[in-house]
Amino acid sequence: MSADKIIEAKNVSKWYGAFQVLKDINLTVGKGERIVICGPSGSGKSTLIRCFNRLEAHQEGEISVNGITLHNKMRNVTEVRKNVGMVFQHFNLFPHMTVLMNCMAGPIWIKGVPEAEAKKTALKFLERVRIPEQANKYPVQLSGGQQQRVAIARSLCMEPAVMLFDEPTSALDPEMVSEVLETMTSLARDGMTMVCVTHEMGFARAVADRVIFMDAGRIVEEGSPAEFFTNPQHDRTKLFLSQIL
Ligand code: ADP
Ligand code: MG
Repeated sequence: MSADKIIEAKNVSKWYGAFQVLKDINLTVGKGERIVICGPSGSGKSTLIRCFNRLEAHQEGEISVNGITLHNKMRNVTEVRKNVGMVFQHFNLFPHMTVLMNCMAGPIWIKGVPEAEAKKTALKFLERVRIPEQANKYPVQLSGGQQQRVAIARSLCMEPAVMLFDEPTSALDPEMVSEVLETMTSLARDGMTMVCVTHEMGFARAVADRVIFMDAGRIVEEGSPAEFFTNPQHDRTKLFLSQIL
């Protein structure tokens, strides 16, 4: 794998029991590339990106992430997680820890970073997502949009090679969607490698280098936002776009 490929998936298939959830997926994500993945509910989008940080294991094909090959029975899961940040629909912050500790925990526990340095990094990234004043609060005291920005800051504190987003705005009240999309857009402008499962097509148009459409476990179509939105090739893509745009 050459150094400029952050994620490479070759002929990846996965089953849940007898049900094939991923079918022969081929996808390469270059350094600094921004990918948006969309598609109907149940098409395998979450499963695919969860394979990239080893929350799920694939059964056939090959996945490499930042030079680490993910095997069927791999032991270095921690090594993978250090390289891959993930932001979930439901934030998944540690409820019993302050915002600051949420951001310090990973670097201290997983990377062995000294506490003072972890604190400095945490404050830097809370500043970066524009909520340094919330550092000493608990997640429950924050709005959904603020919690999601903490989740982004917490991932950034691990200084990952790539950030995965799984529908990060779909659990938010409508008025909070834009603050999270703005944070993601600014990360993209800074050159972060990003794979975003989202149906925010405005974000896709503005930020994505490539839009990927999945249906029933397959990548059906991919292209630049300009191609994808103005001239979709497949009927399933056209139908999907007609439903969400
Ligand atoms: P998407 O994110 O595109 O909505 P998912 O990757 O969550 O799709 O799910 C794809 C399919 O796999 C769905 O049919 C879902 O019900 C099924 N699935 C997801 N997780 C599991 C699991 N842990 N066990 C069995 N089936 C699952
Ligand atoms: Mg999903």
